[in-house]
Amino acid sequence: MLQDIVVRSITEDGLIRGAAAITTDLVENARTRHNTAPTATAALGRALIANIFLALNLKGDDTITMRFLGDGPLGGIITQADANYNVKGYVQNPNCHLPSTPQGKLDVGSAVGKNGFLYVTSDLGLKDRYTGSSPLISGEIGDDVAYYLHQSQQTPAVVAVGVLIDRDWKCIAAGGFFLQVMPGVTEEALTKLENNLKNISSVTQLISQGYTPEKMLSLAFQDMAFKVIDKDRPKFTCDCNKKRLEKVLISLGREELEDMIAKDKGAELRCHFCSEYYYFSSEELAALVKEIDSK
Ligand SMILES: [Zn+2]
Repeated sequence: MLQDIVVRSITEDGLIRGAAAITTDLVENARTRHNTAPTATAALGRALIANIFLALNLKGDDTITMRFLGDGPLGGIITQADANYNVKGYVQNPNCHLPSTPQGKLDVGSAVGKNGFLYVTSDLGLKDRYTGSSPLISGEIGDDVAYYLHQSQQTPAVVAVGVLIDRDWKCIAAGGFFLQVMPGVTEEALTKLENNLKNISSVTQLISQGYTPEKMLSLAFQDMAFKVIDKDRPKFTCDCNKKRLEKVLISLGREELEDMIAKDKGAELRCHFCSEYYYFSSEELAALVKEIDSK
């Protein structure tokens, strides 16, 4: 199996931007961290891949956060990616698993729910923070993100994301491709692109067959000339640390902390995004109480 990689590309005429990604290890890492059941893994994995595609043009400390808030049994999906393709995320109900669709696919659409919204927050450092939203189309993630892009940026986009799960619940193939059409593209080029895409049935099938991202892009572009802009490694990783959680504890206030010391002889906190546990002893909590008092 190929290593995780994101390849950015653009057609020679500059009018269609694209990217393709292999993220099998990344999604498997997310699965083991959150202990997700197959349908939940597929939903989370697809969202993580889509979030990487939305992060293609970020710089510096910029981040993009996606929240899929549908009415299905999975609950919400929250993911965040940065300019270096570091991505993290979680689902509200990691145990969610539904019977497969008649086509034998994991039923992500029913798990997420078809009624609800996708919220996308761009955090561009101190400069700008902006949240846009669009209604969910199918809950299948790819379509929902493509619809959001069309609504918010007025540019047609294709977001194909897939996660293949084995019988033992491990992720054995994950990735996708992304195409975004710039203003000025001809109808002829669009039609050609649509026809090319009709021949691509399943991205996970391509990845299982050993297709590289470049080869996936060649399938999408066919005889349209394109060039690779850059390649990078995406990772499931979280920027949480104990210091940050100390701040969370301090924000709870003196009484709450003293209660934890008296009743629990400490505290155990879990980072939602990566499921990492942090332990605080009574002594450490007492030190935080002192810090509150000294303010
Ligand atoms: Zn974390």
